[in-house]
Amino acid sequence: MSDLGETHGTQPAARAADSTRRQDAARAAAATRRQPAAGDAAATRALTADRLRALVEHETPTGDRARIAAAFQTLREWVEPALGRPGELVTVDGVDHLLFAPAAEPYVLLLGHVDTVWPLGTLADWPFTLDADGIARGPGIFDMKAGLVAAAGALATASDPSRVALLVSGDEEIGSLTSRALIEQLAARAEAVLVLEPSERGALKLARCGASIYRVRFEGRAAHAGLEPERGANALTELSRQVLASGEIADAAAGTTVTPTVASAGTVTNTVPAQAELMVDVRARTLAELERVDRWFAALAATDPQVTIAVEGGINRPPLEQESSRELFALAQEAARDAGLAALDGVAVGGASDGNFTAALGVPTLDGLGPLGGGAHARSEWVSLDAVVERSRLIAGIIDAIAARRRGEER
Ligand SMILES: [Zn+2]
Repeated sequence: MSDLGETHGTQPAARAADSTRRQDAARAAAATRRQPAAGDAAATRALTADRLRALVEHETPTGDRARIAAAFQTLREWVEPALGRPGELVTVDGVDHLLFAPAAEPYVLLLGHVDTVWPLGTLADWPFTLDADGIARGPGIFDMKAGLVAAAGALATASDPSRVALLVSGDEEIGSLTSRALIEQLAARAEAVLVLEPSERGALKLARCGASIYRVRFEGRAAHAGLEPERGANALTELSRQVLASGEIADAAAGTTVTPTVASAGTVTNTVPAQAELMVDVRARTLAELERVDRWFAALAATDPQVTIAVEGGINRPPLEQESSRELFALAQEAARDAGLAALDGVAVGGASDGNFTAALGVPTLDGLGPLGGGAHARSEWVSLDAVVERSRLIAGIIDAIAARRRGEER
């Protein structure tokens, strides 16, 4: 259940006045929203560096509600003037997410997360730094505070931000448990989703593998291993047969892996094991492949008729298939050319993101819009300051290109 934040406290009667005020605010904001002139490149760069520092210096481990709220406040100070409308906290099961709802539909959904994998206190011995070569470092800078800074810059320069929504979630690093439904609900009404996750050496992420997890329980019958082993039904032997069989359903050519990862069986050395348990990790590039493997697990039957098998689990994250990003990538490449940026590359990667959820709904999704950098989840995390500025321009360019395409269609 979602407990909507303070901006939903407004009564309907107050809404008209409120909306006038918002329009005034939007106009006031527009004055400050102009793309800095070419001569202002240094100012833009300095502002971007300040914002990187500010956001990295908010430590935001997943689950730390107060610190995440403080980081959200900083984001609101940047994004509210750019959009001319307020952000709202959406709280789901005690976890806060920051939403800037769109002012009109259809819209482009920018998707990011503020939480990092770094525990509180990391900053004390690993502070934010920016060296003379423009390399910025600090906990969470690549995954993905730099992506949020780039998005804030883009919203200040996009020509029509009324058609943009921004969701910054607070629990991505632990699997988006409370934000998933919100992400899907917003994505379902969006015309495109731009995911602010780290790039792959500057390249966009055009496809991501999907993943399934299975737990298989084997139930046999115990017997004395010395006196009458023939009266037992060996759950471990059956597990072993199924481990080997599962290897045969993998398909290297299709990129489908089936990896037994954890197993346990037995109690003592002189007893035929009655129970065994197996965990299997599955990765695939297409939903069809995940479903093929899923059918295999659903139909799993023991070779030994005296052993029963129970399967739990299934498809966990659907893949982000290349088809979902094809059109948006072409449009992004054009936007990069128009903005005078370097040619854009795109790659397929193994890891999953919230983009997997939105692509599975059939919504065009482009991922990896964060800047050039590296070392996600590692002490070596870094980003290029100039790349953050360039990504701001790219994201603004993509938003504008989608707007132009929409106007073309509506005409
Ligand atoms: Zn991330």
